[in-house]
Amino acid sequence: MKRNRLTLFFKTILYCFSFHCLSLQAETFSQSLNQAEKLTYQNINTAEKLIDSLSLQLPSASNNEKLKWLITSLNISILNHNNHAVEALKAKIPLLIRGSDKKSHHWRQLLSVYVALTLTPSSPKILNELQVLETEILLYKDAFLSAYFYRTLYYALMNQDIIDVGLDIAIKNIKQWQKLEEYYFSLEMQLNIATIRITILSDKENAEQLLIALGKEVKSLEASRYLVSIEVLKASILGINNEFKQSYTLLESLLANPTFTLSAHQKTGIHSNLAFLSFELKDYKQAIYFSRKVLNYTKKHAHKFIAASQVQLAKALLEVQQYQEATQLLAEAKVSFLQKNDRYGLFDVDNLNVDILYKDNDIAGLYRTAKSLIANITSPGTNLANVSQRRITRAENAAHVEEQSIVVESLAQDNISQQKELTLSKEVLVKKNQFLVMLSLLCIIFISLLVWVYSLLKRVKVLANTDSLTGINNRRYGIELSEKKFRKHMNSPTIKSFSVVMMDLDHFKNINDSYGHDIGDKVIQLTVNLALKELSPQDIFCRMGGEEFMFVLIGSNRQEILTKVENIRQNIYQFDTSPLGISKAVSASFGLSFIKNSEKNHQQAFAIYIIEADTALYAAKKSGRNQLSTYQQ
Ligand code: GH3
Ligand code: MG
Ligand code: MG
Repeated sequence: MKRNRLTLFFKTILYCFSFHCLSLQAETFSQSLNQAEKLTYQNINTAEKLIDSLSLQLPSASNNEKLKWLITSLNISILNHNNHAVEALKAKIPLLIRGSDKKSHHWRQLLSVYVALTLTPSSPKILNELQVLETEILLYKDAFLSAYFYRTLYYALMNQDIIDVGLDIAIKNIKQWQKLEEYYFSLEMQLNIATIRITILSDKENAEQLLIALGKEVKSLEASRYLVSIEVLKASILGINNEFKQSYTLLESLLANPTFTLSAHQKTGIHSNLAFLSFELKDYKQAIYFSRKVLNYTKKHAHKFIAASQVQLAKALLEVQQYQEATQLLAEAKVSFLQKNDRYGLFDVDNLNVDILYKDNDIAGLYRTAKSLIANITSPGTNLANVSQRRITRAENAAHVEEQSIVVESLAQDNISQQKELTLSKEVLVKKNQFLVMLSLLCIIFISLLVWVYSLLKRVKVLANTDSLTGINNRRYGIELSEKKFRKHMNSPTIKSFSVVMMDLDHFKNINDSYGHDIGDKVIQLTVNLALKELSPQDIFCRMGGEEFMFVLIGSNRQEILTKVENIRQNIYQFDTSPLGISKAVSASFGLSFIKNSEKNHQQAFAIYIIEADTALYAAKKSGRNQLSTYQQ
């Protein structure tokens, strides 16, 4: 009996001990997994070692632990850009998730898509597969599975540049991760959203607060990996605010700071941004230097972005007139864009080719290129409803190129004006190109560090839309707005009268010649202010170039519009210019073209009305200037 009791005692101890051992082991394994996850964001090399060592214990791990191991390993390999490791993990998916039930099947599918996002990111199949998976996955009501699904979907969307939908998904995903207390995933998504908000939407207002909040979260989670992201986002805000120098200094200091151990990929991201900033700061030598670094890297490690890097380098080379190498790079980039049928890339290349054609004075080539630019964007099969708002904007921009090509064509007989027009279109195209190069680069997935890439969107837009002397809309944007208004007018029964008005200052050359160019500039600014006084918010006003302006005016009847224009004429003529040292009154002539109601039924190109208003302006000049003339058919 005693012996039995003793045996029982020992057995119990043994049992307890072995149970304890088992549970200790189990606890250690899942604790180590958590530790590996945490380390991913702190010290990825240690995380990699830990996760590798844990693979030995996988055979005895539970299904959930196997899944977690796989997810963490994938994360580490992707963040390390170690495609070999990703390949190896891909092979392990069916071994680790063995169940023959439907849910295991869907997990395997989802993880395969996730891997495909890294290995074949541009595959168009990915989004389709996810679409099919979505309904099935939601049926399980498994919070982790659906959160992981939406995280994958987010990256797939971003990879295809479908940013607006991606943003919605990301917002949803943050909530999912928070509910699951998966704070690293939630932080990752929050940084992604901050990136979009700051850089694409240029939401500066809340950006700084957002960064402060995120900074706190990064600290509390000790996710030092993201400290760099936050700094890079700060640099983006500086970039958006046109503080290029400060942005440059900040990024440069990140490279030099020993507390950040940056991966080659991260460094390349920063180099690419420095290339852009150097370009903006007109330090083309530096821009070329950084662009070359980026190109070398992409050639070795990120093939998808070789073409985009070539374009970035070509752009800087063009600025220092190194046409030969730039031409070569653009030709190479064009081949890859053609292969991938990347119309946006082709658009980029064409944009830059404009510079070369311009230098060669190849007017026919320029016209051809403008046409191909439009064809690239408006070709059938471009389902604009399905792509992001930004792409629609791009397509709209292409319409301006068309507008310009019409102008270029119509001025083909007039050599002097032609030069002027081409300079204009060249400027716009070059700016747009900058925008597109950066967009192509931002397709690099999973790396919130490449955030800055977005940074110039809004800024370029403002730059590209505003006339720097007067602050009003420039020609391109003025025409864009006018066309929109025009289309709206054509479809609206309520607007009574719609007029396109051209204004040109009289004998302006004399003002320049007698008082100097600076005074000439002041007169232009003054004229703008005097005109603005008469305009209502729905009117459009833009500088067409030099001392020539266009208005699009809307009124309840013709007389109302005529009065408005007459008031502008009088404001200018009666203005006391003696403080500027100008003894004679300044005056302007106006040409008006009214769109008749009968025309509402058929679609007439807006450009026709510009030509009509121009013709009327010419008549006003001929009849003695300082007057209005209306186009008569
Ligand atoms: P007209 O009455 O026939 O219009 O005579 P004009 O002298 O005004 O002739 P035109 O419109 O052809 O001349 C425009 C002049 O405006 C030529 C150019 O020197 C000057 N100009 C163009 N852009 C600017 C500018 O940004 N600033 C200044 N100060 N002058 C400009
Ligand atoms: Mg003039
Ligand atoms: Mg003029």
